[in-house]
Amino acid sequence: MIHDVLQALRQRTHQILITTHWNPDGDAVGSALGWAHYLRASGHQVRVVLPNAPSKPIQSSPGYTSAYVTVAEERPDEAAELFRRAELHFALDYNTPSRVGSALEPFVREFAGRQVLVDHHQQPDPLFTEAFSSTAKGSTSEMISDLITADDGWGKVDVACAENLLMGMITDSGSFRFPSTTAHTMATAARLIEAGAHAHAIHARLYDANPLSRLHTFGHGLRSAVLVAGGRGAVLVLSLADLESAGYVAGDSEGLVNWGLSVDGVEVSVLLREDAAGLVKMSFRSTGDRDVNEFARSYYSGGGHRNAAGGASSLGLADLKAELIQYLEQWLA
Ligand code: 5GP
Ligand code: MN
Repeated sequence: MIHDVLQALRQRTHQILITTHWNPDGDAVGSALGWAHYLRASGHQVRVVLPNAPSKPIQSSPGYTSAYVTVAEERPDEAAELFRRAELHFALDYNTPSRVGSALEPFVREFAGRQVLVDHHQQPDPLFTEAFSSTAKGSTSEMISDLITADDGWGKVDVACAENLLMGMITDSGSFRFPSTTAHTMATAARLIEAGAHAHAIHARLYDANPLSRLHTFGHGLRSAVLVAGGRGAVLVLSLADLESAGYVAGDSEGLVNWGLSVDGVEVSVLLREDAAGLVKMSFRSTGDRDVNEFARSYYSGGGHRNAAGGASSLGLADLKAELIQYLEQWLA
């Protein structure tokens, strides 16, 4: 299946489009740009469409400012044209078309050419008839590295390609500490470092470049933490007032929800972040067999992975918090 795709790619030059999910994170951008660098080195015409811009640190990934990267939110007409022109579309790091946002979703649904999914989320959408999908993988960037191995292509991996793929592996694995980190993950990272990626520089760029507003956002969020369900659940809240007082900018609360899990005995942590649009964005994290993908899917039309999921609600912050605590009390009883 994936070998068919690689074989087709070897036969002639293709017009390739690569997309990834809304609010692209390190793995989304890393896998997209890493794959783009590789396919360009293989002689293909490659364009990358990101639904919206990633956070500032991720914008310094090698290739991000190139002419072949289009942010659809900023240049919607160009993005639409790229969908029409491509003959082969790689959908990276998302499982279902709605994850690219409402503006791009129809283009993914109605794409006329060959469409290939490469992703590690649960429940890949049947729309993607060609899917390289594995929930056992810690990152899409690791899966792209596997494709390069299957293509016997490590000779074509330059520093820019390696930096992007290693960034994706670092961000999605929590710097190689999540349970999805395997010997193969480490061997792949080693290979990327051999190809010229600088693990320390990537880490410093991503994690030692915070604005002060992030610290203040964390301050509000950490202070709000409450334990529920006999200490097995933690709930953190960021209200609009908190965000305003912190000087919040997009991305400032990333990683905050994980701190709930750092409390002894906590198995599920949830962050509720009020949105300007009257919507509350929800982030779920869990340990072990506690399946927050299922929980988010059942109650908050969300999803993700077993141990990390998201969702949203228009219930209003106070009511939502009360409802959520009730659900958690039942689930974790
Ligand atoms: P985060 O809490 O970091 O925003 O998201 C955690 C994980 O949940 C991400 O890997 C993402 O794939 C997934 N996710 C986040 N928000 C949503 C959502 O609204 N719907 C679905 N299906 N998945 C989400
Ligand atoms: Mn990912």
